[in-house]
Order: sequence, then C-alpha cells, then structure tokens
Amino acid sequence: MTQAESFPEIRDAVRRLCADFPGSYWQALDRERTYPTEFVQALTRAGFLSVLIPEEFGGSGLGLGAATAILEEIHRSGCNGGACHAQMYTMGTVLKHGSPEQKAKYLPGIADGSLRLQAFGVTEPGAGTDTTRIRTFARRDGDHYVVSGQKIWISRAEHSDLMVLLCRTTAREDCAKSSDGMSVLLVDMREAVGNGLTVRPIRTILNHATTELFFDDLRVPAENLIGEEGKGFRYILSGMNAERILIASECIGDARFFIDRASAYAKDRNVFGRAIGSNQGVQFPIARAYVQMTGASLMVDDAAAKFEAGLDCGTEANMAKMAASEASWYAADMCVQTHGGFGFAEEYDIERKFRETRLYQVAPISTNLILSHVATHVLGLPKSF
Ligand SMILES: Cc1cc2nc3c(=O)[nH]c(=O)nc-3n(C[C@H](O)[C@H](O)[C@H](O)COP(=O)(O)OP(=O)(O)OC[C@H]3O[C@@H](n4cnc5c(N)ncnc54)[C@H](O)[C@@H]3O)c2cc1C
Repeated sequence: MTQAESFPEIRDAVRRLCADFPGSYWQALDRERTYPTEFVQALTRAGFLSVLIPEEFGGSGLGLGAATAILEEIHRSGCNGGACHAQMYTMGTVLKHGSPEQKAKYLPGIADGSLRLQAFGVTEPGAGTDTTRIRTFARRDGDHYVVSGQKIWISRAEHSDLMVLLCRTTAREDCAKSSDGMSVLLVDMREAVGNGLTVRPIRTILNHATTELFFDDLRVPAENLIGEEGKGFRYILSGMNAERILIASECIGDARFFIDRASAYAKDRNVFGRAIGSNQGVQFPIARAYVQMTGASLMVDDAAAKFEAGLDCGTEANMAKMAASEASWYAADMCVQTHGGFGFAEEYDIERKFRETRLYQVAPISTNLILSHVATHVLGLPKSF
C-alpha cells in the first residue's frame, strides 16, 4: 500500500480541518511572524497531536504511520505543522525513559493539550552538530540542579509549558566516552522564564517561533531528571528517529503541495496560444518531482514501519529525511519556475512554502551529516571526523 492510501479517514479529517486555515491565514501570520494559535488549538481539539500517546494516558495509542499521515496532509494542504509537530513526539522521552510518577504527572495533560511539551533544547552555538561538545551545565545542589549555559535555535520555547533540556552533568573531559555525562531535565517554562531563563526570539526566513535561551543559575527540581543521570544523550538519540521520520512526512506533504499547484497552473496558464503544461520543458520537471516524491514517500513508509515494529531504524530514518527533504526542495524550485512571476507573489503561497521547506535540509539534521552516517556506518568507508 502506498502512503497516499494509508489512514484515509484520518487524512480526510485533517484535510477538512485544514480547509478552515487557507493561504490568507498563513500569509497574515507570516507577515507578522506570529504563532498559529487557532490552528494549533484546532489540531489539539481534534486529537491529532496526541495520537502517539498510549490510551492509558489519554491519547489514541496509534503508531508512527498515523502521525506521518496527519503531518503529510497538513503540509499538502498548504498549512504548516512546524508550530506544533513536536507536541506529538517530544513526549516520547518521558514515555520511554520517565518514571511511572513522571508519566502519570505529565502525559494526561500533554494528551488533552492542557500541557504543552513541544520544546527541546539540544543545539548550542559553540557545539553545532557535535552535540557531545555542549557546555550547558547542570550542577547538583541538594534537591535541585542549577543550570547555566546557552542554547540556540530552540523552537516553540515561548509556546511551551515544558521543555526537554539536554545538558552536561559531568564535563566532557571527565568522561570515559564523550557521549557520557549528559542528562535530560524537564524544565517547567512557566516557572523558569524570568527566574534564571531568558528567551530571545530569532527572526528567520520562515515563521518558525525559534529562539535563543540563556540559563543563569536556573534551579530545576532534581525530581525533573528523566531517567538516569549521565545517560541523556542516548535518550535524546532514541527520540530523534521519530522526529526525522515525521519531518520527512512533512516534506512529502510539501512536495505534493508543490506538484498539485504546479500541475493545476500548468494546465490553466496559456502562453503562445496554448497551456504551458503542453510543453515538455514544463511537464518534465513536474513529472520528475512526482517520481522523486514517490520514491521518498516509500522510504518514509519503510522507516515508519520499522520504527513501529521496534526495529533499529536510525539509517532508514535518516535516509528517508534526506530523500524527502531533497524531493520537497526540488518540487519547490520546480513550482516557482512553473509559476513564472507569480511564483514570487505572496498571495500564491508558493514563495512561503518554498521558504518553509528549505529548512529541512538543515534541521533537525543537515544533509552532510546523514551522508557521513551512510558512508561510514552503512558502507564502511573511513571516518572523516
Ligand atoms: C529554524 C530552526 C529550528 C531549529 N529548532 C531546533 C530545536 O527546536 N531544538 C534544537 O535543539 N535545535 C534546533 N535547531 C538546530 C538544528 O538542529 C541545527 O541547526 C542543525 O542540526 C545544524 O546544526 P548547526 O546549525 O549547528 O550547523 P553546524 O554544525 O555548524 O554545521 C554547519 C554546516 O557544516 C556542515 N558540517 C558540519 N560538520 C561537518 C562535517 N564534519 N562534514 C561535513 N559537513 C559538516 C553541516 O552539514 C552544515 O551544513 C533548529 C535550527 C533551525 C534553523
């Protein structure tokens, strides 16, 4: 079964919800760089953001395939899931590695949307992709951790009640392995902001609510440590596969959006007395985008199926994310070209989606790092770093 046919009822319900949020809604937000509160509320009310939470905690207990169908349809409709997709999967860190008390305390609220856990703080200016070099440090002081340091590109921090934070609890130099000595804390943003945590928004080419965070002796209760101290890097890594697969499905949705729009426009637009789409120079790039999107979509399905089966799927998740982000970027460029001048006009939504889909070749992991993983871990080539 191809992904387009999976979960038809969910897809249909998502499409109907998204129809209430047309291009004009996103254009207005984009102009002011404001958060799509009404859209996120509608998704929350419909239960789409809690599909991965088990039923015992108030979610619908579906697998990753259902979540990919939801995000793909959001993006195919011209909407954007970036404002809230992390509400779906960030809770996985609590679900997989949290204590029974932490799960009972947080998961029901996350499931009904009264608690938003959609910020995760990993990236730092001085470390970049080399996460083992993060320097934000949590020092134990009685029944608290005291956190100091800095994070960058932390999305949705201003729209989240809780944040999963990766920090060092032992300096890198004092660890046997560089990936040891990092821990995950659940930070209550409602208490933290203004009491040791400063959030500074970063304006970017897309409307993504991303921020810079400054920690200055922020006190976090020790009971908010997730899992064991020093093992945080492994916990974060285990959540990254879900994130990559879900973001890949957004790229598939974006690619479908561009292909739908380009096909429709190429049939309608007449130049030199005929539809531009009757020229192979216009048709072939649209067809090529469709071929690339279809291949990437099958890779996303494969990665999601392996994830659901509990199999090791790091390579598949990474490859699916890379293929899907390249397919969406090719489709975006093709769509602008097909629209000629109108590809640049705000009211067509093409230029907005073009800016939005570019992100996914850099975040949550850049293409070179995926290629390096495949080269060394799959093909056995020598390590370059
Ligand atoms: C809008 C946005 C939202 C984000 N949201 C979050 C978030 O919510 N939480 C969070 O923790 N992070 C977030 N990020 C951070 C994101 O995950 C990183 O930007 C991304 O992983 C790339 O890291 P970097 O920017 O530090 O690039 P760098 O690591 O500085 O790399 C720069 C470039 O060099 C390349 N490069 C680096 N090393 C090598 C090498 N050895 N070989 C070949 N090429 C190499 C990279 O591929 C990249 O193209 C976000 C980023 C953006 C832009």
